[in-house]
Amino acid sequence: MVDVGECDEEDAAGWQRACELVAAARRITVLTGAGISTGAGIPDFRGPNGVWTRDPRAQRLSDIDSYLADPEVRRAAWRSRARHPAWEAEPGPAHRALTELANSGRLRALLTQNIDELHQRAGLDPELVLELHGSMFGTVCLECGETGTMRAALRRVAEGDPDPSCERCGGILKSATVSFGQALDPEVVRSGQRAAMDCELFLTAGTSLTVHPAAGFAELAVRAGADLIVCNAEPTPYDDQAAAVLRGNLDEVLPRLLSVPTVPNSSPLRTWGDPSTW
Ligand SMILES: [Zn+2]
Repeated sequence: MVDVGECDEEDAAGWQRACELVAAARRITVLTGAGISTGAGIPDFRGPNGVWTRDPRAQRLSDIDSYLADPEVRRAAWRSRARHPAWEAEPGPAHRALTELANSGRLRALLTQNIDELHQRAGLDPELVLELHGSMFGTVCLECGETGTMRAALRRVAEGDPDPSCERCGGILKSATVSFGQALDPEVVRSGQRAAMDCELFLTAGTSLTVHPAAGFAELAVRAGADLIVCNAEPTPYDDQAAAVLRGNLDEVLPRLLSVPTVPNSSPLRTWGDPSTW
């Protein structure tokens, strides 16, 4: 039995089931969203205190058409990157718990919607991290594809260029993140799909599961036969497909859930292989 503390009965049943699944799972794929970084001081977008909830205009900075068309949007975007809380943030207990899971050899892959690199800074092997929405610490030229570091671009902003352009071709420069209206990297999506179908347990943490195609990974995992655990403060559209739903602070939920001792599991390891070969 797991100590479920002062939960109500429904919570207790969810925790019991979640801990059993984690204990027995040999291959776990995780999807994280903004909710895992709020404890580290990075506000989410759509939550009660979200960036877009408080200031709907801020969403324009993340829209590719506005960014391309309006130099003022670009200047505002550079100012916002310079004061992004990720520069100061430190990984929290939830990030560290996932690194521990990886160290136990049971993490198949970690898909993240976050651009803050806190998983890597928590010591997670970058090879295991699939950044669905890119990283804010890189830049890319929208004309020629030249990549660079955000630090170098922001140095040019600090030196008086409010909208630095590509030094190779003069094209519009942007953070190496996926904006609204931009496609996700198909290679990253494919790797994410493989990891979703190739696990016994799919765990989501801190994502509202409303943004596609990221949210579709949960569905894909369930359809491929994996158990789903949803850890999120608010309800998600996938709660009714989940074997267990855990609310509460992820900095408490994940360390507690992922430190459950493993139990021997001798059933054959189910694997679905590479969907591109079906
Ligand atoms: Zn360029």
